[in-house]
Amino acid sequence: MSARIIDGRALATKVRARIADDVTRLTAAHGVVPGLAAVLVGDDPASQTYVGMKHRATEAAGMRSEQHLLPADTTQAELLALIDRLNADDTVDGILVQLPLPDGLEAREVQRRVAPEKDVDALNPYTAGLLANGEPTFLACTPAGVLELLDEAGVDCRGADIVIVGRSTLVGRPLSIMLTLKGRDATVTLAHSRTRDLGEVCRRADVVVAAVGQPGLITADMVRPGAVVIDVGTNRTADGRLVGDVDFDTVAEVAGAITPVPGGVGPMTVTMLLQNTLTAARLRRGLA
Ligand code: NDP
Repeated sequence: MSARIIDGRALATKVRARIADDVTRLTAAHGVVPGLAAVLVGDDPASQTYVGMKHRATEAAGMRSEQHLLPADTTQAELLALIDRLNADDTVDGILVQLPLPDGLEAREVQRRVAPEKDVDALNPYTAGLLANGEPTFLACTPAGVLELLDEAGVDCRGADIVIVGRSTLVGRPLSIMLTLKGRDATVTLAHSRTRDLGEVCRRADVVVAAVGQPGLITADMVRPGAVVIDVGTNRTADGRLVGDVDFDTVAEVAGAITPVPGGVGPMTVTMLLQNTLTAARLRRGLA
């Protein structure tokens, strides 16, 4: 293997320690303990795991974590009423609604209901609009984690050709905006399922970010020698292993640097949620 491994776990440990220090200072100076409220509807095992991980990470950073575990037959009105209560609760700085919601619940309406100043998942269209306007408040956690990983890998995005594969509102699209903001200055191609000759498009890139949900989609012949490869994909194989969208073993032979799955983007996603919760606690009290 020739590629350098970009270690998301090590980076997450470092950034979380910095966040915990900032929380300690905020609490000492202003008596503020940032609070994150997580809402989980139903009993999807993967979602339970994610919410549990976020809960532990929040407490480990010295913040307050509360979990609202609702049955799968919760109605849209009941869920919206909970969001309203959390919006009005002054001890809650950030609200996270774990996706996907069970069938019958309308996620977009729920996301629109989260108060913008508590929108630590950055999924309210108002928050997304501020980002598109070049005046971001909260950055969506996974794309923000990708930016941190690029910084850690020493990638200078200015003028770099970056191909993002996947255009979801959760990952690919907000990342394309973040990378093209003034200061980041990348030249971004946002590829998707209708992209003609994905291999040809990816081979032009200094950086390839895969955010699709298809194991092995990005193969070695699609990556320019020395390019940086960030794998956002999280896929469970039939035998229970967690793999990304990148054919890791072969791509690592040509890439200059690469994130593994697990241990790449995932830990940074949770870390950026902590960062956003801390930011929300400061902003809500005018302590930016
Ligand atoms: P979505 O299903 O919302 O979006 C997938 C995107 O991939 C779409 O834009 C789709 O194109 C595109 N796509 C599908 N097939 C192809 C193809 N053959 N070639 C090129 N593009 C294709 O997924 P998400 O963005 O929510 O998630 C993507 C992956 O990232 C998943 O594996 C998910 O589990 C993972 N993920 C990981 C996180 C982490 O913390 N590590 C956090 C969030 C997601 P089109 O728009 O044309 O349909």
